[in-house]
Amino acid sequence: MRPSAALTAACTLALLLGAASADARQARKVGRGASLHQGLLMLDTHLDTPASLALPGWSIMAAHDVKTDYTQVDLPRMKRGGLDGGFWAIYTPQGPLDAVSTRKARDYALMRASAIREMVAAHPESFALADRAADAARIKAQGRRVVYLSIENAWPLGDDPTLLQAFHAMGVRMAGFAHFRANQFADSSTDAEKWGGLSPAGIQLLAEMNRLGVVPDLSHSSDKALDEALRLSKSPIILSHSGCRAVFDHPRNIDDSHLRALAAKGGVIQINSVYVKAHARNPEREAATKALEEKYPEDRRLTLAEYAAMLAEKRAIDRRFPERDRATFDDVMANLLHAIKVAGVDHVGIGLDWDGGGGVAGLEDVADLPRITAALLKAGYSRADVQKIWSGNVLRVLAAAEAAAGKS
Ligand SMILES: [Zn+2]
Repeated sequence: MRPSAALTAACTLALLLGAASADARQARKVGRGASLHQGLLMLDTHLDTPASLALPGWSIMAAHDVKTDYTQVDLPRMKRGGLDGGFWAIYTPQGPLDAVSTRKARDYALMRASAIREMVAAHPESFALADRAADAARIKAQGRRVVYLSIENAWPLGDDPTLLQAFHAMGVRMAGFAHFRANQFADSSTDAEKWGGLSPAGIQLLAEMNRLGVVPDLSHSSDKALDEALRLSKSPIILSHSGCRAVFDHPRNIDDSHLRALAAKGGVIQINSVYVKAHARNPEREAATKALEEKYPEDRRLTLAEYAAMLAEKRAIDRRFPERDRATFDDVMANLLHAIKVAGVDHVGIGLDWDGGGGVAGLEDVADLPRITAALLKAGYSRADVQKIWSGNVLRVLAAAEAAAGKS
């Protein structure tokens, strides 16, 4: 070997060894991050995934591709992202307030609650129903996923707030009053004012939540409804999927003074991935999407062929009218970090509205969740802080609702 060749070989070896040890260092670092992430108890407070359970041929046990079928949560992706579970929503799109429509909504909501329970019953090795705050850690330790039930839109309760008892018996531990429109219980943040906050029936419903130990969820309700709930509730309030108006001025988000009031009463805001930044209007895409939604309404059961056709039409809309300046992972983090700064680290959590309109560039489905943990650590938050954000705070709020239950 010529000296220069020997030198080159030695240099190459040194470089390789250097690279190898850098790789090893990187692997150890990633390993620590990954094990930290995997060791966390991670709950999301707004999973609209029960809607997927009604899709023909769809299984929670199989891995799906968000780009192909638009779903964002299934067991394989929960495992990849470290998501232990959360609150699985019984969501009912708002309809007319007459008795016949309301009864239909009640049956629809009961069916959805049954579908969630059937999912758990069909896969007891993978999922478990959770009733109390303490259940989540126990279920995780068993290697299973945590299923709390929640209500998004209390319209199906009709004129009888005590019907909440039936849903409580089925496992509901969190309930929201309204959705996009005002209903019999509350004003909506995205509709004209009807009650000036909670209605008399809404105040009764809040009392019923307190009596049963159900966490009152004021996401989607108007600011005045939130004010009333903060004043009247015997247990802390949750915003299960909301953002910060200081980051994006939208009525679905809340301002800093409400963030502080929520925290002062022990409550928690769970950061959403919808309404995280201002969008330029995209009228052609909006019109095409609206037409598709009218053709395939949310509460209609599709055949396999209809489902395939709907997905093909949806992908065609994406190709013809792509989303403009789509929100990104950084926009979600801007909301999260602002909420922590204003409300404090004990009053913020995660509720990204998966399968309900959530997901942004860089946070497409639950497999991407480790990015949030990494960003929080990078921002200087401790492991203990990150654990509070991922579940400690919401479980404290649930435990407070349990403690307040039954007290007059
Ligand atoms: Zn929602």
